Amino acid sequence: MRLFAAVVPPPECLDELGRVVDRLHRLPGADGLRWTSRPGWHLTLAFMGEVGEELLPELRARLGRAAHRTSAFPLRLHGGGHFGRRALWAGVAGDLDTLRLLAERSDAAARRAGVAMDEHRRYQAHLTVGRGRGEGAPLQPFLDELGGFEGTRWQVTELALVRSNLPVSGVRGEQPRYETVDAWPLEGREGHSG
Ligand code: ATP
Ligand code: MG
Repeated sequence: MRLFAAVVPPPECLDELGRVVDRLHRLPGADGLRWTSRPGWHLTLAFMGEVGEELLPELRARLGRAAHRTSAFPLRLHGGGHFGRRALWAGVAGDLDTLRLLAERSDAAARRAGVAMDEHRRYQAHLTVGRGRGEGAPLQPFLDELGGFEGTRWQVTELALVRSNLPVSGVRGEQPRYETVDAWPLEGREGHSG
């Protein structure tokens, strides 16, 4: 199954972002983007791709330990950015050091469980709200609108393992796009979380 580790913001924080994205939808050129589905909004920590069933017990155990060692931390959705013309995203602010630490620990957990992970790239926390199609529309108007966005702060208290069901042509909407298959509480204590 296709899996990734993620932080899932609480519904009220996603609603705030949703109100901004509603405004983006009304801007000229909005049809030139493929907008992501809101129930699936998440911050990817580590993308694993296809993972064999036989690796799951070890993967779960290791992700659980990664969560156990990491302290809960504050985060808020903040501003936006883009990867070329491919992805338009909302950014985050707050305790980015701990977010990065959790991403690194999730990556290491997957590697040690035997998942073939992509090479390390610099971790850039983001929540993808839209994707360019083909040539893509200029993203500047959308970036301008997202730029002023400041979401309410929340406390990240768990690490989620999410399954991604790629859309199968013809059966669109039949299954949820993303499903949280497991989650572990962040239980580290200050001074013991390094
Ligand atoms: P689609 O691929 O249909 O456009 P998607 O990218 O949201 O949708 P997945 O490809 O299953 O679905 O990806 C799940 C999550 O992992 C997304 O947040 C995606 O941005 C992220 N992701 C996918 N591939 C990678 C990768 N190679 N490196 C880092 N993150 C990735
Ligand atoms: Mg993808």
